[in-house]
Amino acid sequence: MDLLNTLVDKGLRRELPTREEALAVLATSDDDLLDVVAAAGKVRRHWFGRRVKLNYLVNLKSGLCPEDCSYCSQRLGSKADILKYTWLKPDDASKAAAAGLAGGAKRVCLVASGRGPTDRDVDRVSDTIKAIKEQNEGVEVCACLGLLSDGQAERLRAAGADAYNHNLNTSESTYGDITTTHTYADRVETVNKAHAAGLSACSGLIAGMGESDEDLVDVVYSLRELDPDSVPVNFLIPFEGTPLAKEWNLTPQRCLRILAMVRFVCPDVEVRIAGGREVHLRSMQPLALNLANSIFLGDYLTSEGQAGKADLEMIADAGFEVEGTGEVTLPEHRAAAGAGICGSHEGAGCGPAEGAGCGSHEAGGRGSREAAGCGSHEAGGVCGSAAAPAAGTKAAGDPRTDLVAVRRRGAGTDLAPNA
Ligand code: SF4
Repeated sequence: MDLLNTLVDKGLRRELPTREEALAVLATSDDDLLDVVAAAGKVRRHWFGRRVKLNYLVNLKSGLCPEDCSYCSQRLGSKADILKYTWLKPDDASKAAAAGLAGGAKRVCLVASGRGPTDRDVDRVSDTIKAIKEQNEGVEVCACLGLLSDGQAERLRAAGADAYNHNLNTSESTYGDITTTHTYADRVETVNKAHAAGLSACSGLIAGMGESDEDLVDVVYSLRELDPDSVPVNFLIPFEGTPLAKEWNLTPQRCLRILAMVRFVCPDVEVRIAGGREVHLRSMQPLALNLANSIFLGDYLTSEGQAGKADLEMIADAGFEVEGTGEVTLPEHRAAAGAGICGSHEGAGCGPAEGAGCGSHEAGGRGSREAAGCGSHEAGGVCGSAAAPAAGTKAAGDPRTDLVAVRRRGAGTDLAPNA
């Protein structure tokens, strides 16, 4: 296909595809899907080999947010039955981080709900970053605390943070439909503040919120313009108790096309599959490793992921390898220009960077709890109906509420984390 040859050539040269080319990737047929994956896979392997970077989320503060992001289980008025707790103590956060690092992660993403941190919150997180760095040599730390005020990014950087995550989530033209308590411009400003402070910027999107192909292309082009080192791609988990509970719009094939488009538009950037991986890609997760070079290990912020061991087995079975702490994630030109300064991930406190992966603050990572199997009829015939398909015969686009479970272990609980 001429389109794919053109996109591979451009990806290897870091040349921006046209909007029409990006839209054409999203419009490809199922018959062409493996060709699309193979083409984007060439670009992925050119810049990142067969390495998969593992990131580990630590939810420092969960729920009770005053903002109204529609996709978020922690939003104002959310009825989702998630864990709710205030700031973890630095030692507790460090213990949670250590579990992820022991499981193979090289980056810890420290996330807190809320519009943005107070200066006192930045002090707390700074103490947490120092504790994690002291107790886990070589770890990369990314903070994801919401909108930053002047000077806060610099203070996080001084405390040892390598990166800062703040997602654009969706296109500028639809942002107001998703959130009313802050603006798209607020988000752009925070990403720019992180950049300016020498932090590696991480900023991504959430797919599956009812957006058009044009919206998806718009937000990915805006991300390229912002030039983050990493782009987390979240697939919305539509959980009960939020306004987007009925937005089951994604199929595994659609997710693969979206990841391929992001790879073509942002070829040399760490593309991370974030929340919703298990729910929407399902058995196609290994194929997606040909497109993304980074995933989260274990659980998400408020929803459970597949077992950390299953993540590691999937990577090995698909012929990829977990990236070690001594390996530089980013291509040389990007690492050299990045926040890490040293261009190596070895040294505590340096590291080129890549962004965290916390989504917005949740991005598709929250879960509601639709019980496994049944317990809810929302899922369009998941159970309790004569018309319901038997397990194992669901169509690709059927709501899979059975795959969504609220996180009940790890940070904020007495139970061991999934790592
Ligand atoms: S995404 Fe962040 S700011 Fe928005 S409601 Fe959720 S926790 Fe609050």
